[in-house]
Amino acid sequence: MQTALADFIRDTPLGREADAILRSCVHCGFCLPACPTYQLLGDELDSPRGRIYLMKQLLEGEPVTARTQLHLDRCLTCRACESACPSGVQYGRLLDIGRALTEERVPRGPVARARRLLLRKIVPHRRRVHALLALARAVRPLLPRALKRRLPDRGTRRPSPPPWPAARHARRVVLLEGCVQPALAPGINVAAAQVLDRLGISALRSASGCCGALSHHLSAQTEALGQMRRNVDALWPQVEAGAQAVVASASACASMLGDYGRLLQGEAGYGARAARISSLARDISQVVAAEAPALRAALAAAGGESPPGGPRARVAFQAPCTLQHALKVTGVVESLLAAAGFTLTAVTDGQRCCGSAGTYSILQPQLAAQLLRAKVAALEGGAPDVIATANIGCLAHIRSGTSLPVRHWVELLAARLMDG
Ligand code: SF4
Ligand code: SF4
Repeated sequence: MQTALADFIRDTPLGREADAILRSCVHCGFCLPACPTYQLLGDELDSPRGRIYLMKQLLEGEPVTARTQLHLDRCLTCRACESACPSGVQYGRLLDIGRALTEERVPRGPVARARRLLLRKIVPHRRRVHALLALARAVRPLLPRALKRRLPDRGTRRPSPPPWPAARHARRVVLLEGCVQPALAPGINVAAAQVLDRLGISALRSASGCCGALSHHLSAQTEALGQMRRNVDALWPQVEAGAQAVVASASACASMLGDYGRLLQGEAGYGARAARISSLARDISQVVAAEAPALRAALAAAGGESPPGGPRARVAFQAPCTLQHALKVTGVVESLLAAAGFTLTAVTDGQRCCGSAGTYSILQPQLAAQLLRAKVAALEGGAPDVIATANIGCLAHIRSGTSLPVRHWVELLAARLMDG
């Protein structure tokens, strides 16, 4: 694609990066069938190619309007278009640039501003999420059904998660603690630590928190970079002491960790450490999959608590977009669950987003609800006993649309590996 970037950005690092991405798009349209919003709305401007065109106009200095913002807002950032694109267009990166520039030029109304601010001030902060959950539980009968289903327990207090395994192995990784997940599903990180412990790897805790993805995707870059720097400081002592990986049990966080090096590039005191952390960043599935012989031995030795639905439970796996499109991890979790004795049910349109997409289900509720209905129908189509996923946002969103149990896959594997 030919471009003629405007003076305000042409000779800047951001401009050069955006220009290279724009030029790599050949307008072939192969990405259109992969795009959930194009499938739902049928408008070229709600497709990857249409949004690329809108961002080209913006970068070439043409007026930016609320219409541009609307079409960029409607993007899920699912990056299914990247997986479908034969030219390797880095759409997600271009969208980050396009959204940030649009945010500066198109003021939002007071309600939209307040909603986005509230999300940024609550969700990345574990204690605030805990407080909000306590409040939600107190008024549970008054909540709409979909919101009730998102709460971590349904009427009774959730039992405390089992204790964190002692650091007894020479091989060590450090775990990103995260923000929403420890509040909504405190058992997931423990399950990840238990699985790794059975594989001969100790998962070390850290004072880390939100990975920064939420603020980053809401174009609050200063805030996001602050959260990333705090995590670099929190994770670094374990990295320096020889941790072989920086592990996240939420695929969205693993993907964000992988971007720290680029986003903090050149920053005094942070650039080199962030690059090292990104080079070590792994989703928990990548770490477990790399330990195939140890996993086989651990499964053979396991007594195995019955997972939901029984020891041979039928599992429908929902691959989060961050796992399959951002991290390019496909088929790995399914293989791990099959090796552990679970029966994987068929899921149609497995590459399609569930509609969770960070804060999308809150900011674009109608589109998110349509995607959720389609996803739940696809997941339930194979009559599973349990739905598994790899990301807390997807887990909470899918749970709001089904009566089946929804778990992180690593919890199923941990239950299989632990003594009953
Ligand atoms: S993003 Fe890729 S698939 Fe889509 S129009 Fe451009 S080159 Fe084609
Ligand atoms: S990221 Fe997803 S929603 Fe956005 S343009 Fe690409 S495929 Fe469509």
